[in-house]
Amino acid sequence: MGAEPKKQTILSIGERRRIAAELRRLTRMVGDLYALDFDGVICDSCGESSLSALKAAKIRWPSLFEGISLTLEEWIIDQMHFLRPVVETGYENLLLIRLLLEIQIPLVRKSSVTEGLTVEAILEKWVQLKPVVMKEWAEESADLINLFGTVRDEWMNEDLSGWIGANRLYPGVADALRFASSRVFIVTTKQSRFADALLRKLAGVTIHSERIYGLGTGPKVEVLKKLQAMPEHQGLKLHFVEDRIATLKNVIKERALDQWNLYLGRWGYNTEKERKEAEDIPRIQLLELSDFSHKLK
Ligand SMILES: [Mg+2]
Repeated sequence: MGAEPKKQTILSIGERRRIAAELRRLTRMVGDLYALDFDGVICDSCGESSLSALKAAKIRWPSLFEGISLTLEEWIIDQMHFLRPVVETGYENLLLIRLLLEIQIPLVRKSSVTEGLTVEAILEKWVQLKPVVMKEWAEESADLINLFGTVRDEWMNEDLSGWIGANRLYPGVADALRFASSRVFIVTTKQSRFADALLRKLAGVTIHSERIYGLGTGPKVEVLKKLQAMPEHQGLKLHFVEDRIATLKNVIKERALDQWNLYLGRWGYNTEKERKEAEDIPRIQLLELSDFSHKLK
């Protein structure tokens, strides 16, 4: 007796389509997408950005910086580490450096806010101070951004290893990026070419240029909307890691971004006061550096 022929189940075209769509939906459901800020999350660039900004400030305002002592320069760079949490975009470093100089040398004062101003007060009130000094110094952000970029390019061209060496990746981050199983995007206010160079040289990682959203690609909330709208990202769990609480609060304001998991990196450029504030915001999870590296892997 021969074996009975196998019965074949005939599916209608409609059923096949439904099953195919369901399979597509299920395969999309798995996986995580991480949007990562760069400075203060991946890279500690404070030494580099302060030194670049000092070089740029000397070019922009040569007469103010004429003959200043090395001790004063060192004091300024020192204070910049303390003030780093207020910097949203690199060019603000130039403004802070000039403001610090005006605090120390009354003769070069051109701003009405400097009298009696302390470094602690700058940390508290930078959002209000910034537009005032820019107006009083007659400065435009676009000019300062260009100058800052040019100074960095020149430093990189003349002394690449010195420039790279002024930056450092946070411990464990290079390996975490190298072995990440999640989809990783960089969302930064740094110019993309600098982030790219640092990832290659310090982490030995190449992140495709389509995955680096740098300065000029629009506000971070818009980048996050773009990422979540991409068809290939449907169903992925979305995560955004930042070290600026103000940026996370902007994301929270956008109802369209409700599905993002938000993290404030404790190791980055934020103050104790900001970390305390974040603890009271249910949407924000505070993240330790070791947990961050673990999550990406
Ligand atoms: Mg940052």
